[in-house]
Amino acid sequence: MKFDYLIVGSGLFGAIAAHELNKQGKKVLVVEKRSHIGGNIYTEDNKGIHVHKYGAHIFHTNNKEVWDYVNSFAEFNRFTNSPLALYKGKLYNLPFNMNTFHQLWGVTTPQEAMAIIDKQKQELAGKQPQNLEEQAISLVGRDVYEALIKGYTEKQWGRKATELPPFIISRLPVRYTYDNNYFSDRYQGIPIGGYTQLIEKMLDGIEVRTNVDYLKQRHELDKLAGKIIYTGPIDEYFDYCYGMLEYRSLTFDTYESEQANVQGNAVINYTEAEIPFTRIIEHKHFEGSDTTHSVLTKEYPSEWKPGLEPYYPVNDEKNSALYKKYRALAKEQDNVIFGGRLAEYKYYDMHQVVASALYTVSKLN
Ligand code: FAD
Ligand code: UDP
Repeated sequence: MKFDYLIVGSGLFGAIAAHELNKQGKKVLVVEKRSHIGGNIYTEDNKGIHVHKYGAHIFHTNNKEVWDYVNSFAEFNRFTNSPLALYKGKLYNLPFNMNTFHQLWGVTTPQEAMAIIDKQKQELAGKQPQNLEEQAISLVGRDVYEALIKGYTEKQWGRKATELPPFIISRLPVRYTYDNNYFSDRYQGIPIGGYTQLIEKMLDGIEVRTNVDYLKQRHELDKLAGKIIYTGPIDEYFDYCYGMLEYRSLTFDTYESEQANVQGNAVINYTEAEIPFTRIIEHKHFEGSDTTHSVLTKEYPSEWKPGLEPYYPVNDEKNSALYKKYRALAKEQDNVIFGGRLAEYKYYDMHQVVASALYTVSKLN
């Protein structure tokens, strides 16, 4: 066989696996069905602005090993994500913190904010939250839930907040300080020059074939390598034999503006249910690009169907049960390793993908 490993997908997981195996002296081939490498972290230059083609990507982690690892491929800036939410013509700071509570209720002290939230929580009567709505109310009360969570969540996921798992919202911190940093992690930033160079460096010296859909040519490709690392959707690998897992898809509407600064912030969320998009990203603010024009992207969520890109796994009970069946099948596949957001059907952030890819490779002989 010509290669030791065939890696399906050149996203973060595939690129790290390829890099580490190549470093160990293994012969590696990467196939990618898109026309470019990088998966969803791909960035593209637009006259000095690095456009996050598949949505805003901010690297954050508490894991020093992961942080040092990504910094060995690119220098990161000190970008801090502090998105705003626009609701009925008024701007609110995110994540939920004293600025948000002041904007909503006019309170100025943590005690006043806590008193309001504690009172609003009482509607749950001490019950353990069973779904996203209850989880949100137990954390921040009904006012914040109605203005900043319900509409956004229901359009993002296409499901009622009462039908969604609580963990989705656990990602967002609630703080009784005036701190607009969306993440609580120790390390945070954006690679200066965009993410694509990071993947390019990882894949340096490795054969990569773009515009190749592994599943359409698996018989020929399987003959090229003894082992496969597969990072595409797990249900598609098995021809949807147990039925389709549900994903959320997105449409990105990217446009240029002749104005140098359109919205004054990298990310503004639109939390009203009636507005069809969830957020507008102004890419130049990730790196403070000094340009006379700007590039923005509106993000429209939609249900996934074959032919669309699957961006988010829907980790509700029904889909988690279906995933387990595919997982059992995957375990029976000798010589195929399933990894990354789509093959593990997990709402992974980048730092989790880095850790998982490094761990997976460390277990291979
Ligand atoms: P992917 O990037 O999806 O890569 C999989 C690759 O496999 C793709 O390139 C795909 O084309 C290819 N592929 C699939 N099937 C085949 C096939 N049959 N043949 C060949 N190739 C195939 N994380 C953060 O940490 N911070 C953020 O701010 C953040 N923001 C996000 C915003 C959005 C809108 C989205 C969707 C995700 C965000 N993430 C963020 C998560 C981040 O994108 C993922 O954790 C990471 O990119 C997953 O890497 P991956 O390699 O597992 O998957
Ligand atoms: N969310 C919300 N309002 C917001 C931002 C987020 O209700 O203004 C909820 C929503 O359910 C979303 C989840 O919090 O899916 C996680 O948000 P995050 O910004 O971390 O999502 P991602 O960047 O992964 O799309």
